[in-house]
Amino acid sequence: MNAPVPTPPADDPVPSPRRIPSVERLVGAASPAELETYGRTAFTDAIRTVLAGIRAGGGPVPDAAAIRAEASARLAAERRPSLRPVFNLTGTVLHTNLGRALLPRSAAEAVAAVMVQASNLEFDLATGARGERDDHVEALICRLTGAEAAVVVNNNAAAVLLVLNALAMRKEVVVSRGELVEIGGSFRVPDVMVRAGCRLREVGTTNRTHLRDYAEALGPRTGLVMKVHPSNYAIAGFTAAADPVALHALCRERGVPLADDLGSGSLVDLAAYGLPPEPTVRAALERADVVTFSGDKLLGAVQCGIVAGRKDLIARVRKNPLKRALRVDKMTYAALEAVLRLYLYPERLRAELPTLRLLTRERDAIAAQAERLAPAVAERLAGRATVSVADCISQIGSGALPVETLPSAALVLTPNAPGGRGGGGRCRRLAEELRRLPVPVIGRISDEAVRLDLRTLEDEAGFLAALAALTRAEDGRRTT
Ligand SMILES: *Cc1c(COP(=O)(O)O)cnc(C)c1O
Repeated sequence: MNAPVPTPPADDPVPSPRRIPSVERLVGAASPAELETYGRTAFTDAIRTVLAGIRAGGGPVPDAAAIRAEASARLAAERRPSLRPVFNLTGTVLHTNLGRALLPRSAAEAVAAVMVQASNLEFDLATGARGERDDHVEALICRLTGAEAAVVVNNNAAAVLLVLNALAMRKEVVVSRGELVEIGGSFRVPDVMVRAGCRLREVGTTNRTHLRDYAEALGPRTGLVMKVHPSNYAIAGFTAAADPVALHALCRERGVPLADDLGSGSLVDLAAYGLPPEPTVRAALERADVVTFSGDKLLGAVQCGIVAGRKDLIARVRKNPLKRALRVDKMTYAALEAVLRLYLYPERLRAELPTLRLLTRERDAIAAQAERLAPAVAERLAGRATVSVADCISQIGSGALPVETLPSAALVLTPNAPGGRGGGGRCRRLAEELRRLPVPVIGRISDEAVRLDLRTLEDEAGFLAALAALTRAEDGRRTT
């Protein structure tokens, strides 16, 4: 491989006055490092692609070293995974498009352990008999919520679909008109009902639904009464909802199960951490027979949906063939179990569960962090923008507590404006440059500035290292 490169014969297949070097000659002259990183096959293919571009382009022919460098750059870009880490500085802590909850290291390690080795996923180590995958988390969920039984599926949308299908197929499901919500994407309660094979029986009005509305709707065709957490909206003013305790009593009297789709469903009382209150799963189970909630919203674990509640109803859910179609992988159980275990030690939860840690950060601490980082960030922006610090408002995200917000602080990057106009375009360009970094930095544009809410910034060194690539990019194109 390291043999001296023979003087190439004049054998270019395409006789060209522009003298494009041959593939063989370029590969032959490659350094061992270039060949070792990707192998001869991939490197040769990349050289061919670059040469094809040069032929098609018709411009000046770069020298051999530049051609090889471009081939290496193409290979490096190809090797970069499509799904990769970013800095979420949007101010939305549980950002669905940016992957929602961050897992604690312990959970990531638990996942890695069962990925590279066989596990007892469905194997009872005590008896050697077949096991049940939900067994790894069911007892923990029951202990933390007061439920009698629980199952885990792909996400909360799947949990709702499964509950509806298992408990009310070909029957009526009674829902208040104030709760026929769209959660985002294509999850609309009335559509899910249809897909689950249920008939929607709307009761009440958008703003007011009374106990008697439910009482009049319940009958022999009723399969289920469902409550839905409005999640991403709130109605204010002249409103009324049926008293939950009375509604539960009514359902029990008529022998109809009551399901509550909590959406986020917190396992702890957020008010105790200084956050706006959100119904806990335990409280919801005191006035419902089954509840459904997400694993990667306030719970702070992985994408999954949990159905918890009365044993007889959960048994019907578990037996439903859809459960098999909606089941989750061992990675999900490993991560969920590790996170649920953190809840057994409430005093340590805030420090160890990233979602709770980030949600409870104090505005003053975030502002101090912003002041501290501002000079280093300004330096790395290399004259693109000035940096200041301003108060801002973070959101919990994922439909939790839509009208509640958290005071925070942001780095405000105001693009330098030589002409004094067109700030919007410069902001979009700066935001784009930040998105193109090797570890992309995602902020929010408002008032002619790119704002980076630091509530969710823990890895300061990594953040500054990511921004350093801006300075290097600047050096590389000083001439343009
Ligand atoms: C978020 C949410 C869902 C969907 O949960 P996913 O885990 O995203 O599938 C369903 N219902 C409510 C009320 C929600 O807030």
